[in-house]
Order: sequence, then C-alpha cells, then structure tokens
Amino acid sequence: MIPYYDLKAVKFGGSSLSCAEQIIKSAGIVKSERSRRFVVPSAPGKRFDGDDKVTDLLIKSFRTAQSGGDISEVFGRICDRFNEIVAGLGISLDLSKELSEIKKNIAGGATLDYAASRGEYLNGLVLSSYLGFNFVDPKELIIFDDNGVFDANETQVRLSAKLLTLENAVVPGFYGSTVNGEIKVFSRGGSDITGAIVARAVGADIYENWTDVSGFLMCDPRIVQDPRPIKTITYRELRELSYMGATVLHEDAVFPVKLAGIPINIRNTNIPTDPGTMIVPTAKDFTSRDIITGIAGKKHLAVIRIEKDRMNQEIGFGAKVLQVFCERGLSFEHLPSGIDTMCVVIAESEIDGKERDVLTAITKAVAPDSIELEKGLSLIAVVGRGMINAPGTASRIFSAIAKENVNIRMIDQGSSELNIIIGVDQEEFETTIKAIYKEFCA
Ligand code: ASP
Repeated sequence: MIPYYDLKAVKFGGSSLSCAEQIIKSAGIVKSERSRRFVVPSAPGKRFDGDDKVTDLLIKSFRTAQSGGDISEVFGRICDRFNEIVAGLGISLDLSKELSEIKKNIAGGATLDYAASRGEYLNGLVLSSYLGFNFVDPKELIIFDDNGVFDANETQVRLSAKLLTLENAVVPGFYGSTVNGEIKVFSRGGSDITGAIVARAVGADIYENWTDVSGFLMCDPRIVQDPRPIKTITYRELRELSYMGATVLHEDAVFPVKLAGIPINIRNTNIPTDPGTMIVPTAKDFTSRDIITGIAGKKHLAVIRIEKDRMNQEIGFGAKVLQVFCERGLSFEHLPSGIDTMCVVIAESEIDGKERDVLTAITKAVAPDSIELEKGLSLIAVVGRGMINAPGTASRIFSAIAKENVNIRMIDQGSSELNIIIGVDQEEFETTIKAIYKEFCA
C-alpha cells in the first residue's frame, strides 16, 4: 500500500523546468496534490542534446566579464530563454528589471557564486508567479559560515521560522548566503541539497525529487540493457552505491533528510505515474524480496600490496603505513587486509607521479618483506540489505564470475554485511557486472 503523505517538499531538476512546456508539466504535478506545498526549482537545464544549461551560460557570462569581454551576446541568450518561458506560460511577469540588474552586476565584477545562482533565482520567480505561490529567497535563510561551509543548524532555525508561517512557497535551489548576505552556491547539482534542507525545515513527510529518470536502476544501463529499477533503497545502501559511481541524486542531499528521518522519492516528471525509487531511513516498512539492491563500480584504481611476516603482532603497523598517505595529502579508497598483508587501494589519478616516493616512504616506515604497486584495478560493489538473510550469496557471486573466466583479484566484505566489494582487472569490469546482474536480477 502506498502511504499517505500530508506534507511534501518537492524539487524539480533542470530538465523538468527547461522550457515552458516542461514547467507546465511540473506545475501540473504540484497542483495535482494539495500536500505539495513547498517547491524547489533548479535553473532551466538542457532542452535537447547540445543545448546549454542556463547555469553554464551564467558562468560563461562571469568568465567573459572577468577577462574584460563584452557579455551582451551570452547574456542575451539567457534573456531569450527566460523571455521565451514567460511568453510560453502566458504570465504577466516582467523580468526585464531583474535581468538588466543581473547583467549589470555580472559585468561590474559580481562573484562567480552570485552569477551561477541567478538561474535558480529567476526560475523561482517564474514558477512562483505561475503557481501563485509565495516566493522565498534563500539568501540569509540558507546559511554558509565564513569558511564557506554550509551551516545546518543556523539554516534550520532561520528557514523553518520563515517557511512555517507560509501556506506554500517556492524556494530557489542551489544557493544561500553568508550571514552577511554574500551569495554562496553548493557544488553543481546542488538544488537537490536545497530540496532536502527545505524538507527538513518544514518537517515534510516526504521529499520528492522530480527528474528525467524513473529513479535508480540496479546497475548502469550502459553496461546492462534495461536494468530493473530499484523500488526501495536505504540511505546506507544508497551511500554505498553513489560512492561507487551511481549518480541521480547529489551525494550531499541525503544528509539533511537522513537527520530528520524523511524518505526521498525519486520521480520522473515525464512519466509521473511511475512510482520511482523510495530512499528510506530504515527498510522496516519497505521489505525487499531482492537479495541485491544494486551493483556499481569504479575503474582506474591502483593497489599497493604490503606483506610482512607477523604483521599482526606489530603494533602501529597500519598507522605507520597510513601516515605516509596522510602526510602527502593522499586520500585512499579501501584497505582490505589479511593476516600478514595489507592493501591500500587508491585512485590512479591520486597517486600518478608519486608512486616511487610513496613506496620508498612505506618501506622506510615499516620495512615490509615485499611491497608492490599494481594499476588497472576496478572495484565492483554488490550492495543489498537482503544479503544478511541470504546464506550463500558470496558463493553465488563468485561462481557467476568464475563462469565468465574472470579472475578475482581482491575481495572485501564490509562488516555491515550490506555489501561485497570485488576487485577485478578493469578490462573485466563490464563482464563482471553483467555476470552478477544475470545471476541475481535478470
Ligand atoms: N543549476 C545548478 C547546476 O546546473 C544546480 C542544479 O541544477 O541543481 O548545477
């Protein structure tokens, strides 16, 4: 049974608001349920392959101004986009004052964050006018500290105080400001984060994130044809899959709603009848019959394999190895270890050019019996809360891979029993994912 939700915060991505036609669809979704009272828009995205996102045009305007150029041409394209949208919606909104002020500010040396944020600001004005909703500028409500770090507590206090006085509101995504009102943006795709912040601020029952796909798929459709959609996934599982490369939602969007225990529903604006993917705090009410929730992976990894007899008895061995990475500001991905071996898995891009220095430093620090570095590794994570109760999952995975003659170079099972990570040569990456999908999901 689909639960009933009283209060929803809804976010629409750039493709859902790229032109008047898409905005009409999105507004129709908002209006179809009275619970959809708080709406977070992105800036207009691409209308077709090869089109520009408004955010990119704004960033281009900023860069042109910065290098002393004339922004009229590129800014003119932004004006055309909004004028076309307003005309297509048939609203009597006049953006000319706003547009010329933004143009003047960018040409006059406004910051990159200010420029980048204006697409959401303008689209917010458009959507609030079309929906007849209040417009709430997140400036001075979504707060960043002096180091540019998002301040969740201050934001919660300010934003909920404002929003809870309102019947409805459109809050532009992607940006906020310092306490002094200087505009700051999140990283790209950050309207997802605003949606989560708004959901938490109003105490929503659910955060709906409307985009152009019907949620998460069990694996990358470029590898497996038409993979099955994921119906429900827990925050933990999602974290594992996104870390390994699955994208749909901004990674940081999970934290605000996770804190408040609010589920996220990824939905497709173009097929609103699809239930999409539910991301839930715990799987309690959303039992899954599937053993595996999803499969994702990463390529271009290197592994440093360190061996030393009786390593386990040497106190501080691991700390000394990791100190080498820490001192060089290198971040590693995984640490699979055996009785007398320790492996450090690190992105090739992170260690490129520093190999000799790192190996020499480790040798000096722990005097290993042997140390070697190998590149070209890929890691594949098989993630699923259903694995805990399904004995024999690991052996099914391994025999499916063995049937394809793929050599497993590394195995790492997280202590949560939520995932099994397998290392294979990156040439075998696709074959391995296909084999696991076929065994469990096809
Ligand atoms: N418009 C911003 C971007 O293109 C933020 C977003 O759409 O979420 O990254």
